[in-house]
This record gives sequence, structure tokens and C-alpha cells, in this order.
Amino acid sequence: MNAQPKASHFIAGDFVEDTRGAAFDSTHPATGAVIARLHEATPDIMSRALDAARDAQPAWAALPPVERGRILHRAAMILRARNQELSVLETQDTGKPLQETLVADAASGADAFEYFAGFAPTVTGQTIPLGRDMAYTLREALGVCAGIGAWNYPIQIACWKAAPALAFGNAMVFKPSELTPLSALALAEILQEAGLPAGLFNVVQGRGAVGAALASDARVAKVSLTGSVPTGRKVYAAAAQGIRAVTMELGGKSPLIIFDDADVENAVSAAILGNFYSAGQICSNGTRVFVHQRIKAEFLDRLVVRTRQIRLGDPLDPQTQMGPLVSEAQMDKVLGHIARGVKDGARLVCGGARHGTSGCFVQPTVFADVRDDMALAQQEIFGPVMSVLDFNGETDVVARANATEYGLAAGVFTRDLARAHRVAGAMQAGTVWVNAYNLTPVEMPFGGVKASGVGRENGHAALEHYTRIKSVYLGLGDVDAPY
Ligand code: NDP
Repeated sequence: MNAQPKASHFIAGDFVEDTRGAAFDSTHPATGAVIARLHEATPDIMSRALDAARDAQPAWAALPPVERGRILHRAAMILRARNQELSVLETQDTGKPLQETLVADAASGADAFEYFAGFAPTVTGQTIPLGRDMAYTLREALGVCAGIGAWNYPIQIACWKAAPALAFGNAMVFKPSELTPLSALALAEILQEAGLPAGLFNVVQGRGAVGAALASDARVAKVSLTGSVPTGRKVYAAAAQGIRAVTMELGGKSPLIIFDDADVENAVSAAILGNFYSAGQICSNGTRVFVHQRIKAEFLDRLVVRTRQIRLGDPLDPQTQMGPLVSEAQMDKVLGHIARGVKDGARLVCGGARHGTSGCFVQPTVFADVRDDMALAQQEIFGPVMSVLDFNGETDVVARANATEYGLAAGVFTRDLARAHRVAGAMQAGTVWVNAYNLTPVEMPFGGVKASGVGRENGHAALEHYTRIKSVYLGLGDVDAPY
């Protein structure tokens, strides 16, 4: 299995290598096989990428928006046409099953380019009557945006950042996670093929230090990070030094509340999808599943039966439903959380161990009788580990669901319409799903509150985060000076 790109970085329309940067390997987590060797960006590479972005951006911003949109629309079409090969690449790099990558990764990236391609020409300012005088506003691009990505949805994250940034006239320098460096380079090639002028989308590789250098560079106007809360704190602080704008898409420990009038089979579907899709490596997962005591036994019975049917195996096999975790370190971390859960007295009802002896596979795992004060219920695990907690009353469960530093998402299952809206309103979360879970269409803003982040990606809200407003005051009479 070889997925070696032409070079590590993509700058000003070309693949670029600098072997003075520390070498690192990308591995296929199902086997540990090395699929590519790359080099971290050196200061020289970083500087070339940032200069290229800075130099290309003004002419791009000056184009009629419909022309920018046309190019991005072509990129969406190419992403769709190459979905199969991009999905195989993403599966090799992340270990996520092909069954998922074929529908959720490049495909959702294409949606983002299509959406923002159409959005770009609709952006207008305001006219503001002021009696004799008037003012108007212009929506301006920010300049060079830095994108820093996590490893769970590499191409989707790159597209969710690049599409609005480019649509509204910015340039981007993107750093993928060093665990999943490959698909951002494929995206750079696709954008070039679609007609994007050189320098507007650049990719630099490396670990956290490369991201940190981007977040504190004077050429960068905005930093958009998808990552963990600890990294978010560092990147936010670095950006603050330069009074740079930020979008922070961070972690979560989201509640999924299932009332006793819910359709149990649908609720089980949501809990399984919201914990085991992508082997549980999804920021918005509903990892605290609060189930009403009256339906707890029925819920757990169905949950265990269906969880045991999940097919683990070679992620490149189209029949496989769950692949490995992204790395050995992540597998060890998740197994450590499971061991802690057992020690803390949670009841293990299925899974709980490594799957097989090679590859980074962990069995889909369910704990019942989890209490709010257990580590299982408080820490983001980022693996296939579901915690089921009991509840009795609405007021009580809402308070417990909100008692976390995170606030990314929440879910509620009930047939009671009034309760659904009441609970949705009471949740401290950026997104609430009612009788659904983890659906993130590009039309809908996505992001967190509290420690889960600031800013929103997707939807109309993205405009706020990739443009700024300029007010132009028009004096239409004499200047009235008192001296
Ligand atoms: P990390 O926070 O470890 O890394 C995120 C990115 O930041 C990586 O590219 C990383 O580089 C880089 N980075 C690390 N340190 C710094 C630094 N000091 N300055 C700048 N950049 C830095 O997250 P993971 O990759 O482990 O991803 C998992 C996390 O992402 C989970 O917490 C998850 O909840 C969150 N996430 C949030 C989403 C959302 O939309 N809210 C969506 C998906 C994931 P490198 O990896 O190369 O070290």
C-alpha cells in the first residue's frame, strides 16, 4: 500500500519538498504499514507558503464573486468525480471504513464547495440612511487565513475551512494533522485543476509547532482550528497576541437524552451512530447517553444486540462497518479510559477490549450505570466507548446534561413536541438534534459553546468568520466645523 504524494508541501501551485524538515511517516492504522514518508515544514517552507498566500490574495478578492464561485463549483464537481479514489486515500490514512469515507468525507467537502460557490455572489453590504448623509458597508476578505486540522475528518475539515475562506476572497495556508497528512494535498491539486490561481490554497505539513508558528505569524489574519480543547487554548492565546480572528472547533462530551416516550429503536440507532461511527472519533458524539429509567432495560437489550452485530475488520473491505482507531497512541488512550471505567465501578455490558492482536482496533464498548462523577462521564474519550446513565425527571436531566465544561452538541429523543423544544432551548450546546443525531449538513451552522469553541462553520454564519465589515460614511453636504 503506497500513497506517497509527489512532495510534502503544496505552495504557490507546486509540490515542494525540503528534506531539512524532520521526516515523519503516515501509517495505515489497520496494519501499521507505512504508506507515505513526509517532512515537516521548515521555517523557509512556512515563509514561502505565507508569502505566496499574501501575494495571491488581493487579486483573488478583487475578482467578481461569481468568478470565484465558478472555480469553487468546478472543484466540487472534481471532488465528486474522484470520490472513490479520495475515499480510498482517506481510508488508508485514517483507518475509517470505506463504507463511511465513500459517503461522509470528500462528499461533504464537495457539498461545502458547492454551497459556498453559490453563496459568494450573494454577499452584499447595507445602505444606512443618516438624514442628509448616508453610509454603506462593505464585506471585505480578511486576507491570509491559517487552517489547522484534526485527524478524524481530514479532507472534510480542509474543505469546511477552505471553501468559505476562498469563496469570500481570502487565501489559506492549511496544516493537516501529522497523522493524516495526505488528503489535503489531493485537495490542493484539485483546486488547482479547477482553476484556482496559484498561492491561494497552500498546504504545509508538520506537528504542533508548525501550527503554532502559523497561529502567531504576522502575515496571518485569522486562524481556524479543529482540535482538542488544550490545543485550542494554546492557539487562541497565540492568535490573541496578534489580535487575530479565530474559529475554534474543539472537543465535546455531548449528552443524548432519551425520554420514556421515545421510539426506542430509533433512539438506539442514534446512540450507536453517535458513539461508534468513525470508531467513535467524532467531536460531537453523544457519549453521555441519559436513558429514562422506565425504558432502560429495553434500551440496553436492543443496544447490546445491535452493538454486537457491528462488523469490525479491514477498513478497505466494503462490508466492514468499523475500522481501527487512528493510531496506537489513540488505541492505548481509549483502552486506558475503559480500564478506568471498570475500576470506577461502571457496569461493562459489551466490548471492553482490544479487537484482535494487530492493528489499532478497539471493540465497540458500552458501560451502563455510569455516574456523573466518573471519569467516563467527564472526559472526552474519542473512541468507541458509550456511557449510559439513568434519569427520572426532565429538570434533573437537563441540569446534569449541562454540568460539563463542554458545549458542542446535544440530542433529545421524545415524541412530546413541547418537551423537545423546551429541552432544546435549555441545552448549553452549539447544536441540538431532536429525534436525530450527528447530522451536519453544510446549510446548518456548526460549532460549540463553553470550552467547545468559538465561531461557527457552515451555513450563513460562516460569512461572519471569513469577512469583516467596513463602514463607509458619505458626507453629502458642507462640513459643519465649530471653529
Ligand atoms: P489536537 O488538538 O491534538 O490537534 C489538532 C491540530 O492542531 C493538529 O493539526 C495538531 O498538529 C495541531 N496542533 C497541536 N498543537 C498545536 C499548537 N500548540 N499550536 C497549533 N497547532 C497545534 O487534536 P486531534 O488531532 O487529536 O483531534 C482530536 C480532537 O479534535 C478532539 O478533541 C475532537 O473533539 C476535536 N475535534 C473537534 C471537531 C469540531 O468540529 N468541534 C471536529 C473534529 C475533531 P499534530 O496533530 O500534527 O500534532
